[in-house]
Amino acid sequence: MIRTGEQYREALLQEREVFVGGERVADVTKYAPFRRPIESFVAQYDAKHSAELHDVLTWTDPDAGTFDISFLIPKSHDELRAKGAAFAEFAKLSYGCLGRGPESMAALMAGLEESCEWFEQWGEGNHQKVLDYCHYVRDNDLFVTHALGNPQSDRSKQSHQQDNPYLHLKLKEERDDGIVIRGAKQLATAAPFADEVIVFPNGRTFGPGDEEYCLCFAVPTTASGLKMMCREPLVMDDCLKIYDHPFSSRYEEIDALLVFDDVFVPWDRVFFHNNLFAANNMRFMTSVAAFSGHLSTRRAAIRSSLTVAAAMELCKSVKTADFPNVGELLGRIAALQKALEALVFRAEEDPRVAENGTYFVNPDALTASGLLYPDFYTTMLETIKRTGAAGLMLTPTQADFSGEAAEFAETYFAGADGMRGSDRVQIAKLAWDLVGGPIAQRMNHYERFYIGEPMFVGNFFSKSVELNEGRELFERVIKEGKESQE
Ligand SMILES: Cc1cc2nc3c(=O)[nH]c(=O)nc-3n(C[C@H](O)[C@H](O)[C@H](O)COP(=O)(O)OP(=O)(O)OC[C@H]3O[C@@H](n4cnc5c(N)ncnc54)[C@H](O)[C@@H]3O)c2cc1C
Repeated sequence: MIRTGEQYREALLQEREVFVGGERVADVTKYAPFRRPIESFVAQYDAKHSAELHDVLTWTDPDAGTFDISFLIPKSHDELRAKGAAFAEFAKLSYGCLGRGPESMAALMAGLEESCEWFEQWGEGNHQKVLDYCHYVRDNDLFVTHALGNPQSDRSKQSHQQDNPYLHLKLKEERDDGIVIRGAKQLATAAPFADEVIVFPNGRTFGPGDEEYCLCFAVPTTASGLKMMCREPLVMDDCLKIYDHPFSSRYEEIDALLVFDDVFVPWDRVFFHNNLFAANNMRFMTSVAAFSGHLSTRRAAIRSSLTVAAAMELCKSVKTADFPNVGELLGRIAALQKALEALVFRAEEDPRVAENGTYFVNPDALTASGLLYPDFYTTMLETIKRTGAAGLMLTPTQADFSGEAAEFAETYFAGADGMRGSDRVQIAKLAWDLVGGPIAQRMNHYERFYIGEPMFVGNFFSKSVELNEGRELFERVIKEGKESQE
């Protein structure tokens, strides 16, 4: 099934506990800071029904019917490529600003389904539970959020050593029909906009004594006792103009701490618990990270492509692009963009095929992209600042170009080669919305951390990366050195 935007919006009317600024939000669809982000997610759902994108964004299976292609487990190279192409189209819908839209978690759910057998070792029937849940989400086209980390509280201590034993999410009670859990998890992007939340550990964070904190489960966001404590919205109303803030006006996807205040989870939604090994290795032993990383890599390439184009157009608008020093900076960020595109290409065109026939994007290219992108993107933003200079700051609003002093605005904000003031300012405002607008810093921060804690990812990569040619050369030169001594 493919939901329409309206069906998605209707589901959001179900009662849920969302808190912002000390108050409970009565209806998330009517709350001003959430209205336009929800519109953006509605548009994502509707795009799957559009004549132009339906065939790209959806997949039809004789047994399962038609579903969002993000849920597909690719069993051929063409299917892997089709997913990549769809991820790019999804990203374009929001200019790569929505990191955790429905398709993002759908991609992750496909990785979970691909790995469902892995869960059997943690309890008889667990693989079926995971499979059933993944199909439930896919077949109802649900929007899932995830909260994988523990609250920062005191990072020098393990979960069981925190002053409050229920600060980090913990098993409180095992019952015949399921478990009761209490405590908090972070950081659930888009939680108030989601239908379901899945919790699983995302790194090697648990040690002996933490067993009851090792949980992998799913519940609806409407579950009794689940409280979503949102950060302060970066855009407080729904009045920003697209001309003035093309991204901030629409894509504030919000983040939340999830507090599970004695939430009941039935057994069919508990995928493992009390299991240190499973908790510390799920990220590294299942397909979840590879599948969601494929989407993220495609999104990163789209977002950075727009960012480089914006930098170039900004410099063209006042003809600084022709200065060789500015041209060099622009050339360097274009090179970073091309490097990202090359990694995406390598990821999809040099896939790995598992014994069960699943096609995976090249793991090294995927991780390299995830590890490098935050620095590349930061360099792109710095280049916009360095080259845009005062032009980024001195920007009136769209209203100024139709207001009392419109003629002066058009004349004196003009750009090079007869560019009208309103046209030049629009470019500058777009660039500033990427760099310093209301949601810009959050997006940059997101790019650094969406892959998970870089420490875990980088460390794992240093052990798993394929460097066969380099190693052979290393051995050869060592051997040559030894032989030359003899
Ligand atoms: C905008 C944004 C959106 C996000 N969205 C989501 C989401 O939707 N779902 C989700 O689950 N997560 C999400 N995250 C969380 C993200 O996965 C984490 O930020 C990331 O995994 C890092 O964990 P942390 O923030 O708890 O940092 P910490 O683990 O607290 O790390 C802070 C610093 O301390 C260091 N450090 C911490 N512990 C140790 C240690 N034991 N040894 C050595 N050094 C240590 C780290 O290297 C780092 O430099 C989001 C984060 C951001 C910023």
